[in-house]
Amino acid sequence: MNNLPKSHPRYISLLQREKIVEGFRKGIVAPQGLIAQGRGEAFDYILGEKTTRPAKKAIKASACLFLLARHPVISVNGNAAALIGKQIIKLASAIGAKIEVNLFYRTEKRKEKIEKFLISLGAKKFLAKKTPHAIIPGLKSERRKVSQEGIFKADVVFVPLEDGDRTENLIKMGKKVVAVDLNPFSRTSQKASITVVDNVVRAVPLLIGLTRKIKNENKNKLKVSLKNYNNKKNLKETIAIIQKRLIKTSLLN
Ligand code: ATP
Ligand code: MG
Repeated sequence: MNNLPKSHPRYISLLQREKIVEGFRKGIVAPQGLIAQGRGEAFDYILGEKTTRPAKKAIKASACLFLLARHPVISVNGNAAALIGKQIIKLASAIGAKIEVNLFYRTEKRKEKIEKFLISLGAKKFLAKKTPHAIIPGLKSERRKVSQEGIFKADVVFVPLEDGDRTENLIKMGKKVVAVDLNPFSRTSQKASITVVDNVVRAVPLLIGLTRKIKNENKNKLKVSLKNYNNKKNLKETIAIIQKRLIKTSLLN
């Protein structure tokens, strides 16, 4: 990471890769996580590696939802810990949320490593206790294993870098799900209550800043903002941006 030249035109993207690779070497990121990052990068390239207007609207709605929540929980996987570990703790503090490690490629060893890594960054008092365990009904993957006082009890779950199956099942349990996913076509994006189509490294710092800014606003005002937000419409706007960019680029030369 030391010899990554800051002047390199792809510096920010390369830095993210380095963080993911470093996470992989530490046993935090699963090998499949490297592939997930690549899929995200491809969409980010198409989006111009910028936070779009619809993403900003989705971030605003998410901030309102988190501030209105009674039991918000942030679900963390290896990639999220490696890319935005510190920011996750800041967000937990800003919205009064618990943090729970939840993995698709789950091993107790990796889960513990991620928890230790988050604790080393200051997460201790925010971590949901390991026991007793609960199960998300209808879900077959390892992601079904959750903490009773964490994701199981949550009314709002934040799932940066999520898997579509669990989003669907959390919604079936009556929870609201906020996802950050660069792919607007994924099942996660299509099923979430609020989808922020953006890179987590950009979206989460913006979310922290906005949440802090509107924290003391009247609750009814937050409710009105949330009511005016339409996720399907927002996803359509994002897809329209992608279409426009592709057409514009294909007309070059
Ligand atoms: P789904 O399970 O929702 O149908 P999928 O199987 O295509 O989606 P997964 O492999 O489960 O995707 O999860 C990876 C997702 O995370 C991809 O949609 C990818 O675009 C997205 N992603 C990867 N890295 C980032 C990142 N840094 N920021 C935001 N999204 C990302
Ligand atoms: Mg998936």
